[in-house]
Amino acid sequence: MINALACKNNNLHDRMNASSGGVFIVIAREIVNSGGVVYGAAFDEDFSVVHVRVTEPADLDRLCQSKYAFSSFGNAIRQCEKDLKEGRQVLFVGSPCQVAALTRKLEKPYEKLFLVDIVCHGAPSAATWKKYLNEISRGKQIDSIQFRDKREGWLNYHLTIEYADGTSYSVNHKNELYMRAFIDNTILSEGCYSCQYKGIETRVSDLTLGDYWGADTLSPAFFDDNGVSLVLIHTARGQAMIEKISSCLDSIEIDLDAAISRNPSIMKPSRPGILRDRVKAYEIKTGSLYKALNHYYHPALIRKFLVKFYKKWLLISGKIKARQAAEKSD
Ligand SMILES: Cc1cc2nc3c(=O)[nH]c(=O)nc-3n(C[C@H](O)[C@H](O)[C@H](O)COP(=O)(O)OP(=O)(O)OC[C@H]3O[C@@H](n4cnc5c(N)ncnc54)[C@H](O)[C@@H]3O)c2cc1C
Ligand code: SF4
Repeated sequence: MINALACKNNNLHDRMNASSGGVFIVIAREIVNSGGVVYGAAFDEDFSVVHVRVTEPADLDRLCQSKYAFSSFGNAIRQCEKDLKEGRQVLFVGSPCQVAALTRKLEKPYEKLFLVDIVCHGAPSAATWKKYLNEISRGKQIDSIQFRDKREGWLNYHLTIEYADGTSYSVNHKNELYMRAFIDNTILSEGCYSCQYKGIETRVSDLTLGDYWGADTLSPAFFDDNGVSLVLIHTARGQAMIEKISSCLDSIEIDLDAAISRNPSIMKPSRPGILRDRVKAYEIKTGSLYKALNHYYHPALIRKFLVKFYKKWLLISGKIKARQAAEKSD
């Protein structure tokens, strides 16, 4: 039986610096402080997303927060296997396909490998992210990027980019072009639409971390807008880790089915968004992802598109009803 928890890191700074409730950083500190190694996704110097190896508490900050682009492994798997062969404790965090890839590539299971996967609705490719970033930054030097800046709360998070010249770009995810296209499943990598790593029992991880979406209505007394994590415990080792770090977390048990109903990505692959093909075609025509997203996600155009879609639907459902009526009268 899977145990599902809602958790909040009880250090507010940690929680504000995380995408959800800040559970990852507590697990990572526990591992590093006992001499272990952590592998997770960080930005490199060009703001591409890569899996890196961290051994110092001060460097764990690089791994915090979701980066909404596919993270490349580089030589992380080889390094990870070397650490394990040397008898070190290793925490590996990644998307379910990455955790599965790691376990497939290792020669044997290791007692000292602790695996955490994230709930994952899909990731745009590294090339898609870099193209968009270059287009909106127009050559300006970037200091930092936060995909889940909580300045207006967990539910109203911003994509924020700080530039070296002191300027910044900070837009609520509901209005930001890349984030809208990400959430609408318009720009995910092709393989994500047929992801093989969904479900609960199929996971090879010890723990799964996600956002406890719906916390405001499912667990109103526990909810606050600084972020709440969903934690799924798959193994006895996962349970032991949660007990070990329990003094750093506020947690309650929650109903797994209710949590899944608000977070379908746990169970099912995302379906391609209705604008996917159009955006792709426009991007090819103009050479610009920004122009394509701006074209299709402009509010007036969205209205026009929805009206056209609705009219088509009325026409089709009218034809079906007319055919059914004709069949009845035959
Ligand atoms: C592409 C993507 C899609 C997601 N989709 C959903 C979803 O549909 N529903 C949901 O509930 N949660 C989703 N999440 C997970 C969620 O956003 C948080 O990452 C998770 O809840 C952990 O949050 P935290 O507060 O504990 O710690 P945080 O500090 O926010 O977590 C950071 C951890 O996430 C890992 N990480 C960050 N970016 C990536 C990446 N690109 N690839 C692999 N690992 C990464 C880091 O290695 C680190 O271990 C998604 C995350 C990503 C990266
Ligand atoms: S949706 Fe599946 S294939 Fe895509 S990044 Fe997530 S786990 Fe990997």
